[in-house]
Amino acid sequence: MPADEILIAEADIQSRLSELAAEINEALPEGPVHVVMILKGAIIFGVDLARALMRNTTLGFLTASSYGEGTQSSGKVEIDARHLGDLEGRNVLLIDDILDTGHTFAKTIDILKSKRPASLRTCVLMDKPARRETEIQADHVGFTIDNHFVVGYGLDCDEAFRTLPDIRIYAPE
Ligand code: 5GP
Ligand code: MG
Repeated sequence: MPADEILIAEADIQSRLSELAAEINEALPEGPVHVVMILKGAIIFGVDLARALMRNTTLGFLTASSYGEGTQSSGKVEIDARHLGDLEGRNVLLIDDILDTGHTFAKTIDILKSKRPASLRTCVLMDKPARRETEIQADHVGFTIDNHFVVGYGLDCDEAFRTLPDIRIYAPE
């Protein structure tokens, strides 16, 4: 299989998730949180993290496509915000799977800010700082990784591998 090498084990993801939830709870104002995740990559991490917050949470979704097929970013980001929910005056947590060039996150943050939330915090499971093409950073980062193309725990290659419980390095045969 082209995704045999485990980069982050399931147990390490789960223990980091609890730490992140504690960090984020500390940083977020008290009360309800509107959690927005970027589909499809953030769905598994986003739902697990939203539950770990153990707060009064509502969910919103965006879809962003910057990768067409394969492993190279096209640089062009298309965003569908129809299922975002109402953000105005609410405390919002934006969750994505991985911060790479930063174009997706930068564009998403602009859209969220235009909806006038009371506060906005951002969290990514993984950060690949070596690939950044924007000034964007996330407030909370699960793991900083080297420049690998990874799959699992929500992340895909041509829609495969999303349901793996761990993060693996994708190496085409
Ligand atoms: P950016 O706009 O920051 O370049 O790209 C972010 C999006 O590209 C992520 O949300 C993710 O969907 C995808 N992406 C970036 N790096 C990887 C990777 O290593 N593996 C997978 N499967 N997707 C990635
Ligand atoms: Mg994504």
